[in-house]
Amino acid sequence: MDIARLGKWVQGLIIGWFSSYCFLLYFVKSFSSCISSICVEFDAQSFSMKYIAIRDINAGDQIFLSYCNQAMPAKERRKQLETYGFVCQCTACVDATPESDKLRQELEERLSKLFQGREAMIADPKFNVGSLDPLLKLEKDIMKEGLETESPYLFRVIMDGYLKLKNQKKAEEYAKKLFKYAHPSAL
Ligand SMILES: [Zn+2]
Repeated sequence: MDIARLGKWVQGLIIGWFSSYCFLLYFVKSFSSCISSICVEFDAQSFSMKYIAIRDINAGDQIFLSYCNQAMPAKERRKQLETYGFVCQCTACVDATPESDKLRQELEERLSKLFQGREAMIADPKFNVGSLDPLLKLEKDIMKEGLETESPYLFRVIMDGYLKLKNQKKAEEYAKKLFKYAHPSAL
């Protein structure tokens, strides 16, 4: 290969790389939110990426994907997204408080403890409708923060509680939420 052709080849490579990089930055900035509406999975069978809706998406709605760890506080998420050169303007970042940061950081552990302790909770002779209050408060906080897609097991624990209380209507309501938000592999 002569020098002129090599030069053009390198130039093409640099332009190609730069335009792909610019597109990636544009894509990430346009679709980034700490409240995702889709998740991405690699499908080995078709050797392709799958985009799966994790909440209701109406026709014309913008699709959002999180490019940072959702369990981190807003300050840390902002730092992670700095590598893409933008500041996330989603409501979870704009309205972040010390309480919402704490909720995100502790959520996985809290849900895991709740799920593991669900049988003991309903077997407790003192279990009554008031025992579900902290769980309903957690559900409210989670919905406000847009983390319901991360929390299907909470709906399972609340459903079990209502079944124990023989409140069929409420148990069905939470069964619907569980099936709505749980990934099929988690059921
Ligand atoms: Zn954000």
